[in-house]
Amino acid sequence: MNELRQDTLCVQAGYRPQTGESRIPQICQSTTFYYGDTQKMADLFDLKTDGFFYSRLANPTVETLEKRVAALEGGVCGIGCASGMSAILLTAMTLCEAGDNIVCANQVYGGTYNLFGTTLPRLGVECRFFDADCSAEELDSLIDGKTKFVFAETVANPSIVVLDFDKIADVCAKRALLFIVDNTLVTPVLCRPLSLGANVVVHSTSKYIDGHAAALGGMIVDGGNFRFEGNPRYPAFNQPDESYHGLVYARLAVAFGTKCRAQMMRDTGAMMSPQNAFLTFLGCDTLALRMERHCANAAKIAAFLASHPKIEWVKHPSLPADRYHARAQKYLPNGTGGMMSFGIRGDAATCAKFMEALELITQETHVADVRSCVLHPASTTHRQLSEQGLKDAGITENLVRLSVGIENADDLIADLSRALDRV
Ligand SMILES: *Cc1c(COP(=O)(O)O)cnc(C)c1O
Repeated sequence: MNELRQDTLCVQAGYRPQTGESRIPQICQSTTFYYGDTQKMADLFDLKTDGFFYSRLANPTVETLEKRVAALEGGVCGIGCASGMSAILLTAMTLCEAGDNIVCANQVYGGTYNLFGTTLPRLGVECRFFDADCSAEELDSLIDGKTKFVFAETVANPSIVVLDFDKIADVCAKRALLFIVDNTLVTPVLCRPLSLGANVVVHSTSKYIDGHAAALGGMIVDGGNFRFEGNPRYPAFNQPDESYHGLVYARLAVAFGTKCRAQMMRDTGAMMSPQNAFLTFLGCDTLALRMERHCANAAKIAAFLASHPKIEWVKHPSLPADRYHARAQKYLPNGTGGMMSFGIRGDAATCAKFMEALELITQETHVADVRSCVLHPASTTHRQLSEQGLKDAGITENLVRLSVGIENADDLIADLSRALDRV
C-alpha cells in the first residue's frame, strides 16, 4: 500500500480483523495469558519472541492503540500508559539516573513543570528550564555531559508558544542528545515532531486523541531515529542490562521503546487499561475530522475576541498579529488546535465574573475535548507556582484559557459575547 495519509490512518491504523473476527478491537479484559509450552514462556521473558504474557507489560487492546498512534506519528513503537503524566515519568526514568539532568522549556504543562522541577530533583535528577524563545546559544549553554534529553511542547499549554523545532533539533543533533516533544495539544494530525527532528513523542491521550473526556491515558512513541550505540551520553543503553541477561538496548532496532517497556513499565506498572485503550481507540477514529473543526472554530473565535473592546490581548497563532503566526505557518500549516488564551481587561475577579456568566461554555480542569471549556490557570492549575514561576510560564492574573470544542462557532461566540457584556 502507498503511504497512507493522516485522516486514513486515524480510522484504519492499528487493527485489521482476520476472517470472522470482530470489526473493532475487543476489550481484552485479562491480566494474564495462557501458554502450554514452557520454553515459549521462557523465551517471552527473555524478549526472544513476541507475545502477551501479563497485562502490566502489554495487552492486545492497548496494542491496537499503540500501533495506531505510532503510525500517526511515524514512529517505530508506541507504549500505552495510564496517563500523560505517567508517559512523561516513564520517559524520564528510562533515560535518567541520580546525577543526570534534563533541559526543559519553561512553557510546559503544569504537571510536567512540577514533575521535572520538584519531584525528580528529590531523586537526584536536576532540571534546567529555558525560555522556549531563547537563542540556540543559551539553550546549548544549559547542556553538559550529564544531560539526557531536551523536552518541550509543540504548542505550549497554556501560554500558546509554538515550538521552534529547527533551533532545538539543531542544538540536539550537534550534541547527539535526545529531543523529546509533548505533542498533546496539536496531535499528529496537525504536526509530526519526528519528521522535524524529535526522537521521542509523548502524549496525554486524555485530550484530543480520546477527545470525549472519557478515558485517561498516555502514549510514548519511539521514533527509532536516534543512535544510542557508542554514544557516551547513554551508558545505560550501551552496557548490558543484568535484569535481562545482559541485553544491550543500544543494539536493538527499537532501543528506547524496548528499555522503556521491558524495564520501566515492568518496574512501575503505569500501564494503560484495556477499557481506556478501547475508548481512546474509538475516539481516535474521528480525530482528523474533529481537529479540522477545532481549528476552524478557534480561528473564528480568536478573531472575535481580538476585536472585542473588553479583551486586552488574545494568543492564538491563527491571528496574523500573533507572535507565532509565521512559525505556525511553517510547522502547523493546517491549524494549531483549539487552545487559546486571552486577557480580559481587569483582574482575577473580572475573570471569575466572566466565567460564571458563561452558559454554554463550562469551567473545567480539562482541555481538548469536544465540549468547549474555560479555566483560570493562576487560581487553579498553576496555583502552586511562585510569582516568578507564573511570570516564567507566561501566566498573568487576567489570563483565561479557552479550549474551543466542536460546537457551532456562532453559538460559542454568542455565549462569550453575552458573558463579556456582564463584566
Ligand atoms: C494534560 C496534559 C498532560 C498530562 O496528561 P494526563 O493524561 O492528565 O496525565 C501532559 N501534557 C500536556 C500538554 C497536557 O495537556
